[in-house]
Amino acid sequence: MSLFYESKNIYENKQELPAIFEAAAGYMDFMKHCKTERSCTAYFKKKAEEHGFLPLEKGKRLQAGDKFYIINRGRAIYLGIKGKLPESEGIHIAAAHIDSPRIDLKPCPLYESEELALLKTHYYGGIKKYQWTTIPLALEGIVILEDGTTVDLSGNDYTFCISELLIHLSRKEMEKTASKVIEGENLRVIAGHIPDMEADKDKVKSAVLTLLHEKYGIKEKDFISAELSLVPKFDPAELGFDKSLIAAYGHDDRICAYTAFEALMQIEDAPEHTALVALVDKEETGSQGVSGMQSEFLELVVSRIAPEESILEIFNASKCLSADVNAAFDPLYPAPTEKQNCCRLSHGPCITKYTGAGGKSGTSDATAETMHYFTKLFDENGIRWQTGLLGAVDAGGGGTVAKFMGNRNIDTVDIGIGLLSMHAPLEIASKADIYETIRAFASFLK
Ligand code: MN
Ligand code: MN
Repeated sequence: MSLFYESKNIYENKQELPAIFEAAAGYMDFMKHCKTERSCTAYFKKKAEEHGFLPLEKGKRLQAGDKFYIINRGRAIYLGIKGKLPESEGIHIAAAHIDSPRIDLKPCPLYESEELALLKTHYYGGIKKYQWTTIPLALEGIVILEDGTTVDLSGNDYTFCISELLIHLSRKEMEKTASKVIEGENLRVIAGHIPDMEADKDKVKSAVLTLLHEKYGIKEKDFISAELSLVPKFDPAELGFDKSLIAAYGHDDRICAYTAFEALMQIEDAPEHTALVALVDKEETGSQGVSGMQSEFLELVVSRIAPEESILEIFNASKCLSADVNAAFDPLYPAPTEKQNCCRLSHGPCITKYTGAGGKSGTSDATAETMHYFTKLFDENGIRWQTGLLGAVDAGGGGTVAKFMGNRNIDTVDIGIGLLSMHAPLEIASKADIYETIRAFASFLK
């Protein structure tokens, strides 16, 4: 018997490599196609239907084992399986977010300057702005036309880019701090260059509008009723000679959303407790709004699952894994982390008692009892897990949806996969962690 706590690198066991790589292949395929909350929602709906999940409709009675899903405004999806126990005995919830940092178009984005058509943007979520220039960007999202038709631009083959000043002429720029070197209003995207010589004014803008109108029926006014985002235009890639890691845009937090979803899909028989996977929007901006975790859409979902029971009693008995990514130890940047209390790539899902900043400000801080419940559950199911905090004290900080579940009187703990380069256009995650996190969610939801 060892008296020491120690987490282990899952890759030490080579026998599991085929299973790990297989789980990662499914994830990479998902990540290739899903770069916004709307595309994730559509993907999960389609896959869930293939697994026999049906819409959770108003007034419909569920039986134990019934598989259901419900979509919130195209931007969030809740999926679950009715358990054998009544919901007043508690629901087992896994909550993750499917929005990621990116660059949104402003409602009036298009203008022309010096024979270039440009798009004005407003970045979404916490980004190092200088990381988003001079990389290929894809345009994703929807536009609702005057007549009500929805045009989905996802999957188009356009490429966009934000230019940056050449090094030769950057003497003044190089003296600026990193937060100032690229300003928010300079995150403008090149959108066209060929002029329409028939137009009276703004000849390039006019040509772009003609192109959009001919192809999609879009007029300039329609950008106002749209959700259009620029996201990195790279496919996920296996990283390193051994292909052990995955570089991709949007691991935060699609890696937790996907692993929770996959775990739910693996459940065949009715679980003891009703299982619910909440894949929500707007975490990167504070979880507010109709499609975020603070929305009472969760209450609507629970009232449809258990119409005759008190939501307060259900929440009081429920447990939640707030699934979100964490900062893995990076040998290039050891200072802002604290080695003994941080997660490592490939050591399995990381359980985090509290997040927040400064003196734990803005945290949910799981109870010792909740920590014990989950560490014991994972130990009993042979899950390789680790514990870690988001950085050293006073290094910075961050939050997740945990506090919004805690505020609802649901016992909640944070769990997630450690990343390198979180919130960069290309984030790094381990295949081994994807494999083990699916197993961890399955042990809780089954
Ligand atoms: Mn996150
Ligand atoms: Mn984030």
